[in-house]
Amino acid sequence: MKYFLFLIVILISTNSSRSQNAICAFDDFYAQMMGSGGSSDYEDNSIQWILDNPNFTGTYYIPTVVHILHDNGPENISDTQVQDAIDQANEQLSGINNGINNGHNTNIQLYLATIDPYGNCTNGINRVQVNDPVFPRELDTWLSNYTWPVDKYFNVAVIKEFSSSSLVGISSHPTTVEMDADTDGNAIRHYNFGNSGTALGNTENALVHEFGHYLGLYHLNWKQFGLPNDNCLPCTGTNLPDNANDEVGSCLHLGDRICDTDPVNWPSIPFGNCDIDNSGCETCDSSYDFNFPKDNYMSYDAPCHVTYTQGQSLRMYYTLEEFRPNLWSTFLPSSSCDGPSLDVTYSSNVFDYPSGVHLINGNIRVNNGATLNIPQDATLRFCNGKKLIIEQGATVNLNGTLTNACDGYWEGIEIKGAGSRLIANDPATIQNSNIGVDVNSGGKIEAVSTSFLNNTVSLQIGAIAEVCELTDCQFLLNSDYAGSNFFHNDVRNY
Ligand SMILES: [Zn+2]
Repeated sequence: MKYFLFLIVILISTNSSRSQNAICAFDDFYAQMMGSGGSSDYEDNSIQWILDNPNFTGTYYIPTVVHILHDNGPENISDTQVQDAIDQANEQLSGINNGINNGHNTNIQLYLATIDPYGNCTNGINRVQVNDPVFPRELDTWLSNYTWPVDKYFNVAVIKEFSSSSLVGISSHPTTVEMDADTDGNAIRHYNFGNSGTALGNTENALVHEFGHYLGLYHLNWKQFGLPNDNCLPCTGTNLPDNANDEVGSCLHLGDRICDTDPVNWPSIPFGNCDIDNSGCETCDSSYDFNFPKDNYMSYDAPCHVTYTQGQSLRMYYTLEEFRPNLWSTFLPSSSCDGPSLDVTYSSNVFDYPSGVHLINGNIRVNNGATLNIPQDATLRFCNGKKLIIEQGATVNLNGTLTNACDGYWEGIEIKGAGSRLIANDPATIQNSNIGVDVNSGGKIEAVSTSFLNNTVSLQIGAIAEVCELTDCQFLLNSDYAGSNFFHNDVRNY
C-alpha cells in the first residue's frame, strides 16, 4: 500500500503544472554517474574530518558565473533577475528566508565574478545563444561546453527547460566530480531562478538547494552504496541520530549523513503541507517521534524551506576546505576603485607579494636597493591611472599578472634611472595598460616569454635606456582590447 501511494504521488508530480511539485534531477544524475555501488574518497574523508572538527566554523565568499543558455526567448533573463537570484541565495544561506531571520547562518556567500578566466573584467554573466535550449537531465552532455575553470568558479547554467518538464534543477556533487570533473556545477530552469523577472517567486527558487548538492549535501531521504535505504531507525537503538561516530550505522553513514536532520522516508508527503509535526519516519521505538523537516533546503518542498542546519554547514565546510580549496576567499574581494588612493612604497629590502588577486588603488613605488617579487600566482589589478614605478637602483621580478581593475586602463610600469630593472619571466603578463613598460633614462628590461596583451603601447623605449632584451615575448591584441586602436603600438621609441 505504501508503494502504491508513492507511485500516485509521483504521477501527480509529473503531470502537475510547472509551478507545483517540480523536482530536482540530482538523484537520477547521481545514479547515472555512480551506479548502485562503489566507494568514494570524498565520503570516507569527509566523515573523518567531521569527527575531527565537530565545532569548525568558517567564512567563505565564492565567485559565481551564471551562463544564460538561450535562444532569445524569455529564458534570456535580465541581469537584474540574475543579481536577485544571487541576493536571494545569500539571504537564505545567512538564515533569512522571505524577510524572516529565523534560520541557521552558514557564513557562506556567493558573488558574481568580476574577473573572467582570462583576467578580463566581467559582470559574472555569460550569455550564450544555443539553437535548442532544452536540455536532458544529464550535466555531462552539455555543461562542460560552457563552464569556466571549475576549481576557481561556481558555474551555474540558467536554461529554458529540461526535457522532462517537471525538473527544475540539477547539480553535481563532490562524489560525481570525482568520477568526471567536466560535470561540475548547477543547471536551473529560469522559472526557478531568483525572485523577479520570469521567476515564479520566493517559494519556487532552486539555487540554494542545488548549491547544497554542489557542496556535498544529499536529499534528506538519501540512500546509497548498499546502506539502509534511509536513516529511519530499526529497533536496536544503536543508530540514534545523535550517535556520531565512524561506525557503519551511525548518523554520519546513514540517510543524508547529517546528524542534526531528522530521519525521513520521503520528505514530500503530502506536498505543499508545511506542517513539520507530521511524522517523517516510522519507527517501532515509540520514544522517538521524528519531525518532518520540510523546512530544510534539502527537502523537496521548496514552499516550506527555511533553513540549513549546523550539521549541513559542517559538511559544506569540509567540501570547501578540502575538496574545493581554490574556490573561495575569506573576504569579499574588492572590485571597486572608489576608495581613497593609497600609494605603497617598498624601500631597501626584498618583498614577496602574496599570491591571489589584489586590487591596487594607488601607485606602487620600488625604491633604490629594494626588490619586489611578484609570483606566478599573484594578479595585481591597478585602478585607472595608477602605475608601478621602478626607481633608480630598484628591481622588480615579475612572474605574475599585472592588469587593470575594470574602471579604465592603468598606466603601466615605468622603469626610471640608472640600474633600475624589470626582470620578467614566463608566464608574466602585462595587460590593459596605456604603456605596458616605459623604459627611460637608464632603465633596463629583460623579458623572457612575457605576454603583452591589449596594451595601447606595449613597450616604450627611451633614447638612453640601458638594456632592452626580449626573448620569445608576445605582443597581442584580441577582441577585448579597449584602448585606442588608432594609437596602438607594440614597440615605440622616443
Ligand atoms: Zn536536489
